[in-house]
Amino acid sequence: MPMYVYEAKEGAKGCAKCRAGFEISQSINDPKLTACPDCGAPIFRVIQAPGLGHSKTDLHYRAKRAGFSCLKKVQKGEYEKMY
Ligand SMILES: [Zn+2]
Repeated sequence: MPMYVYEAKEGAKGCAKCRAGFEISQSINDPKLTACPDCGAPIFRVIQAPGLGHSKTDLHYRAKRAGFSCLKKVQKGEYEKMY
């Protein structure tokens, strides 16, 4: 089963686990988690981008190496970290 990474949303209190981000194994058919299983804080799924090194992702890859996170706004008030 694929591993997904979740993190507490910015501004959410969360616990040590979700504030730092955690990995969870889920089936592709499982619904996306929206709350931390430990503390119930709102969380979002961090998109794990495949194919690092392809030209399309080079910029983001370099940004990550420089210590930046690329955030993509997916819905009102909801962001997904691209890296
Ligand atoms: Zn938590």
